[in-house]
Amino acid sequence: MSATIHYRACHLCEAICGLAIRVEGGRIASIQGDPDDPFSHGYICPKATAIADIQDDPDRVRRPLLRDGDTWREIAWDEAFALAASRLRDIREQHGADAVAIYRGNPNVHNWGLMTHANLFLKRLGTRNHYSATSADQLPHHLICLWMYGHQFLQPIPDIDRTQHLLLIGYNPMASNGSIMTVPDFRGRLKKLHARGGRMVVIDPRRTETAAVADEHHFVRPGSDAFLLLAMLHVIFDEALATPGPAGVRLRGLTELPALLARFTPALAESRTGIAATDIRRITREFAAAPSAACHGRMGVSTQRFGALCQWAIQLLNLLTGNLDREGGTLLTHPAVMGAGPEDRQRGSFARKRSRVRGYPDFSGEFPVAGLAEEMLTPGDGQVRALVTVAGNPVLSTPNGARLEAALPALEFMLAVDFYLNETTRHATLILPPTTALEHDHYDIAFHRFAVRNTTRYNTPVLPRPEGALHDWEIFAGLAKADAHLEGASAPPVTPPAQMLDVMLQSGPYGAAAGSAHALDLAALEAAPHGIDLGPLRPSLPGRLCTEDGSIDCLPSAMPGELERLLQQPELAPGQLLLIGRRHVRSNNSWMHNSHRLLKGPRRDQLLAHPADLEARGIVDGSDVLLRTRTGEVRVMVEASTDMMPGAISLPHGWGHDRPGTRMATAAMHPGVSANDLTDELWLDELCGNAALNGVPVELSPAPSNPAPPPLAPRDA
Ligand code: SF4
Repeated sequence: MSATIHYRACHLCEAICGLAIRVEGGRIASIQGDPDDPFSHGYICPKATAIADIQDDPDRVRRPLLRDGDTWREIAWDEAFALAASRLRDIREQHGADAVAIYRGNPNVHNWGLMTHANLFLKRLGTRNHYSATSADQLPHHLICLWMYGHQFLQPIPDIDRTQHLLLIGYNPMASNGSIMTVPDFRGRLKKLHARGGRMVVIDPRRTETAAVADEHHFVRPGSDAFLLLAMLHVIFDEALATPGPAGVRLRGLTELPALLARFTPALAESRTGIAATDIRRITREFAAAPSAACHGRMGVSTQRFGALCQWAIQLLNLLTGNLDREGGTLLTHPAVMGAGPEDRQRGSFARKRSRVRGYPDFSGEFPVAGLAEEMLTPGDGQVRALVTVAGNPVLSTPNGARLEAALPALEFMLAVDFYLNETTRHATLILPPTTALEHDHYDIAFHRFAVRNTTRYNTPVLPRPEGALHDWEIFAGLAKADAHLEGASAPPVTPPAQMLDVMLQSGPYGAAAGSAHALDLAALEAAPHGIDLGPLRPSLPGRLCTEDGSIDCLPSAMPGELERLLQQPELAPGQLLLIGRRHVRSNNSWMHNSHRLLKGPRRDQLLAHPADLEARGIVDGSDVLLRTRTGEVRVMVEASTDMMPGAISLPHGWGHDRPGTRMATAAMHPGVSANDLTDELWLDELCGNAALNGVPVELSPAPSNPAPPPLAPRDA
């Protein structure tokens, strides 16, 4: 049987590792790392091989499914497009355009056809009710970069390959392989950092996989990171350590900072964070004195009540120590397409509109997803009566997912573009399944923007599309055509993603139009299936700044108020437990749990708690416990772990596959419980509406004993 090797960037997570996929007889025979990928150099994580499991998954939806009572029946594509367009049009005509809401899940940014073509149809819906996974994730990053640098995607990235000092807060790249910092093979890059004499300091309420390989780790009370970061800024001014940069850039608001930060002393931070004031001063001095240093914070500091404040402080820490826009510090990327800069119109916006029920601000046209359920459940003009989900599972991934889950059955219509019947899409009226990633071509539009090195890579399909299957971009083109037909209009023109990419490459910074020696276009990328190296990150300020006056705004107008809000936070009650999330390298949010090869081995869905917290509650290691919050209660097995800070407990997200009617759970696995049955849609970063999924107050108690199992039926005599 003849075999072919196909080279391909992995689409599963932000690390975009190069894969070498061996195909025999039309099926995947093996998946390995591509040693010639100029970015990942052959590294892959265990998830990559599980791409074959998705491809061959018998549970994958392959034809449009229409609900028929409690069952489903397959229908033809044209019938599905016509039905979706007409039902959504009826609802808009009867209740107004805002009666339709749109939710886009995390895989949207990993599938370029969705990024290039979803709006062909979704914009036609005319609704203001747009939601996505952004507001349960990285919204604070975008907001602070919009305010400080004038563009939501001007995100300085740690230059890990040249830095001498990494400070990571609430960030576990050993498990995630990076986030808002695309960094395949974090372990290998860390080894090189150590080999050149560098150091890594990790701050986290759990001794994570990253903390375990750090030179220094400190526990921090969940949700208190802002006190630590502000104390570090305080020390920089207090001890005259500031060397603000980059040179030649005007820094607006800088002189007002020392007075504003005067109250945020290391002593105050010690009382709130649990980190000794002497350590805070030392960590700050070492960061400031390093030849180069970079601080980065992710989920632990982003998805908490002061996420934007933390991200602001992190930017200031890099800036005040002269590490912003410096080799070895934090630098902007120069991707081949969609680079952020003054020429780009997607700069972002904040609070141009407010949500109907609770008045949450939008960010770049999206409302906080924490407010989606209430828009469905609250009667009145503009009530959401229909939902379109695109590659998402918000029942498991958004705060108080159970409330959203309860709201879904009452919708008049729900369209899901997805190839899994998951905890959310099981409530749909109609499911439209796209081809898998291996069945279409691929270019990563999103994550070259956040990568620790500039590279570019386009790959043609690995497998032919099955007969009758449609790519995601073709589905949206079909929906747009059906909707136009209802208006008596002709179908909107559709340009395939690859053609769009060709134009973007040619007109981009490495295209012939820019006089670049790379002269990138689609043909050049097709001729280089391993990818093309475009060089290390490089300084580019002030030319990239998009603020109106060309300066960096060191003191966005909302920040003084945020400092006051932080100071008003009550101290923790004695014995209070705070819930944090957990990431594992063999899991990917909620949607890789149908792969036996990823799920085998030790359980990973259990609660972790410090032994002292269990002992104080009379809880035995390995027993079932009850976790309770304002929004819900779950029963889960607990594991005692000294890797947890006392007072912090950890539950991974993305589980909870015990809902009936889904195809996500195999009989052999533990379904786990959903951490978002405990998180609270009202527990937010009040500034921007980002979900506070970490630092959630919880009550922990022993679970009542399992009821005695029913007696076995007597065997046949
Ligand atoms: S780290 Fe991410 S991109 Fe790399 S192989 Fe694993 S899942 Fe794919």
